[in-house]
Amino acid sequence: MAVTTLRAEVTDLLSRLIQVDTTNPPGNETAAAELLRDYLEASGVECELYARVPERANLVARIRGRGDGPTLLFLGHTDVVLADANEWSVAPFSGEVRDGEIWGRGALDMKSQVAAEAVAVASLARDGFEPSGDLIFAATADEEVGDGFGLSWLCEEHPDAVRCDLAINEGAGERVQLGGGAYYICATAEKMTAPFRIHVRGRSGHASMPNIADNALVKAAPLIERIAAYRPTQQVQQEVEACLRIVLGEVPPADEVFARMHEVDATFAELLQALLSETFSPTIIGASQKRNVIPALCTVEVDCRLLPGQTPAEIEPVVRAVLGDDVDYELEFLEAKGGTRSALDTPLWDAVDAWVAEADPEARAVPMCCAGFTDSHWLREAFGTVAYGFFPSRTMPGEVSATLIHSADERIPVDDLELGLDWLRFAARTVLA
Ligand SMILES: [Zn+2]
Repeated sequence: MAVTTLRAEVTDLLSRLIQVDTTNPPGNETAAAELLRDYLEASGVECELYARVPERANLVARIRGRGDGPTLLFLGHTDVVLADANEWSVAPFSGEVRDGEIWGRGALDMKSQVAAEAVAVASLARDGFEPSGDLIFAATADEEVGDGFGLSWLCEEHPDAVRCDLAINEGAGERVQLGGGAYYICATAEKMTAPFRIHVRGRSGHASMPNIADNALVKAAPLIERIAAYRPTQQVQQEVEACLRIVLGEVPPADEVFARMHEVDATFAELLQALLSETFSPTIIGASQKRNVIPALCTVEVDCRLLPGQTPAEIEPVVRAVLGDDVDYELEFLEAKGGTRSALDTPLWDAVDAWVAEADPEARAVPMCCAGFTDSHWLREAFGTVAYGFFPSRTMPGEVSATLIHSADERIPVDDLELGLDWLRFAARTVLA
């Protein structure tokens, strides 16, 4: 192979991956899967494409284990969200390398990690690496929309292709400075999204004569205010507990966590607060379609996130208590997703810890529950996989990358891409030694 360094190799592969437009919808991830297959096969890695429809293929590559060690999966999705070229300072599918950064849609979410995973597997294969258990790389379709062409479909229809004991996925990895310490965030759990709708009924009428009608929109108003005023009971779950122990050196009672963390870092305290309880955010309201018609029905949609372990059935009485009983309403829970966790005392955690100690001795790894969810829950649910979201970064501050994901001018420093590749090679060597 003509490429001289892994840094150059991963930069080139990411650049080429970005040039494959996999905007979802429609996705068209097959072109990305084929590019990765061609790249991996050149290093002698066994590859297979799995597709529910021809244009939306998933790639699974594998280095077979020599013994009965655990199976480790590198997971990544190849689809990206829409990019409006007018907002960008480069063409969003150019994959341009400029001033030490690779630009384009997917540079952070998450073709960077996909490219690093592919290069980790290819380079380990070229090194003659013989893992104790299988090392698998899955580059899947359709994460951003979730219409059943990607990992969920693989788990259901081709479980043997992706069954694994341990998995590394997206979700976290940023280095944060909190007070005097530096930490790398590793996502070991995810909240559940459990949205619900409140339907309030009234009686329509002409808006010029409000007294003859019963305005459903007005009746819904106090319910919205009650949701906003709700102060949930807080609890410290295992991820926050471990994080507090590392960052503060102790675990304060749940109702003191926010204030104590606020003294260390205000932004991080806000993040942690969302992990102490369920959250309710009313985001969509629908009522009359005409200004001169008083609505007979008002529907309020609420984004509701539960802690891992909480269920919609458990939270329903809480919601009803918040709404009170003086306004008639119907409550409808929509489809819930996510809300899974992996244990913290695992060989994969030890690998995260050991990598941080080696790569950045001043820093420590801390586990975290994500307020959003990723494809990790499919693996946890299907196989009981220990799945962590961890792709480390330290050159681009986390608060900068957070504003670029799903936004304009998405880009990644080559230094961070190389750091992530270093982690993945380390993880495979450590876990599958
Ligand atoms: Zn993503």
